[in-house]
Amino acid sequence: MEIKTVGVVGAGVMGTGLAQSLAETGHDVVLMDVTQEVLDRARDEIKKSLRFQAFFRKKEAGAPAPAADTVLGRIRFTTELADFSAVDFLIENATENWAIKEEIYRRIDPICPERTVFAANTSAIPITKIGSVTKRAPKVLGMHFMNPVPLKPAVEVIRAYHTSDETLDTARALLAQMGKEAIVVNDSPGFVSNRVLMLTVNEAIFLVHEGVATAEQIDHLFKSCFGHKMGPLETGDLIGLDTILYSLEVLYEELEDSKFRACPLLKKMVHAGLHGRKSGKGFYDYGVTA
Ligand code: NAD
Repeated sequence: MEIKTVGVVGAGVMGTGLAQSLAETGHDVVLMDVTQEVLDRARDEIKKSLRFQAFFRKKEAGAPAPAADTVLGRIRFTTELADFSAVDFLIENATENWAIKEEIYRRIDPICPERTVFAANTSAIPITKIGSVTKRAPKVLGMHFMNPVPLKPAVEVIRAYHTSDETLDTARALLAQMGKEAIVVNDSPGFVSNRVLMLTVNEAIFLVHEGVATAEQIDHLFKSCFGHKMGPLETGDLIGLDTILYSLEVLYEELEDSKFRACPLLKKMVHAGLHGRKSGKGFYDYGVTA
């Protein structure tokens, strides 16, 4: 089955990057969020990112980037779930909160065609739980994209209890069309990547909280000693500290394991609006508010 039109729910950090990546690889995209203001910001972000890519590719003498107008022309921005009535594939990227996601799946299930595959881009919520909200559990899987989506070559694909082989093949085909590799794992809260990553980021925050080291020192250690491209606190700022907190809360609740308790400093920063790069400040100062 050719996947031509892809619905993207949520136009935050992930939905915006995903819509860009899909449109750049020739797909028609329906990008939905709850307010026009969020959609306008998404459009601006995509424009900025395409301009940056064009500059970078020219400098590196790489293949020319597709024209920004062409890419943006493939994206339809909407606040209406009803506009998903003809999508071939749908990727949900709403806030990491079960009540929000549950409501979305309940509402889109009767709107989308029967053939449409639903992919949840969640950090930690079990995909089997998401599938159970719909009447199409065999057509539901997880697609855990990494940020920034246009630049990441692989995606963690999650097979839930009922996910069919056909659904996995369709997801692999879409990722191949996007130039990305699928790494397929079984369902578990946080899957593979976030079971490990969320603990690492949280523990690094505890070290700052206890005054053992500064954020700069911790990140410097990981980069210089382990060869990581980014330290855990830079990674937390990039993902979004709010998303880190919500993911830890999901892991804590789903696995009933105290090792996933969120550091009080993380909670305080999120309550204070320090959400990392997207808010302009987290463990580091990014100067401007996104
Ligand atoms: P974000 O806060 O930047 O964006 C979430 C968006 O969802 C917001 O724009 C919000 O308005 C929208 N939203 C909320 N309720 C909605 C509704 N009912 N209908 C449509 N849109 C709605 O968060 P994000 O970082 O883009 O994360 C989105 C999802 O992707 C989360 O589940 C997160 O765990 C997951 N994720 C995030 C990362 C990351 O690095 N940030 C990586 C992989 C997966």
